Amino acid sequence: MADSSPARPLWDAYFMDITLQVARRSTCERARVGALIVKDKRILTTGYNGAPAGLPHCDESGHLMIGGHCVRTLHAEQNAIIQAALHGVSVAGGTMYVTHQPCLTCAKMIINAGIRKVIYAGHYPDENAVAFLSQAGVELERYPFPADETTPADQTDVISLE
Ligand SMILES: [Zn+2]
Ligand SMILES: [Zn+2]
Repeated sequence: MADSSPARPLWDAYFMDITLQVARRSTCERARVGALIVKDKRILTTGYNGAPAGLPHCDESGHLMIGGHCVRTLHAEQNAIIQAALHGVSVAGGTMYVTHQPCLTCAKMIINAGIRKVIYAGHYPDENAVAFLSQAGVELERYPFPADETTPADQTDVISLE
């Protein structure tokens, strides 16, 4: 029997697709980053990079550049962890899906939040972050984008850092 419907996505593809959608909410176009914390196949929290609540965003007030980085925003990973704190949700033992490899500050927060695995889509050059995660025993895995329908190609444009 012919079945023309797209393949049902595997869990990693399902969560990474949602992470890419979350990234679209980012308010700093220097890098649109999304993060998702998952445990037992349930989404606990989401985060994207943007200014703290109630403060003007980069797309309204411009970037706040220090040392070549925009420092106006909280990173997506930080916002996902903060959402957990805000709502009293334990992310210990969870997995984080993120559009970009975490920076060192985010890596340290991921370690202390008890997150055990990070699956990222696009590279971000931070060797210290990789070393810290490794030393803390946090698994770091690059998501292998399938060349099929499970990840719409028009979503990969948020992954601009390579
Ligand atoms: Zn910015
Ligand atoms: Zn970061």
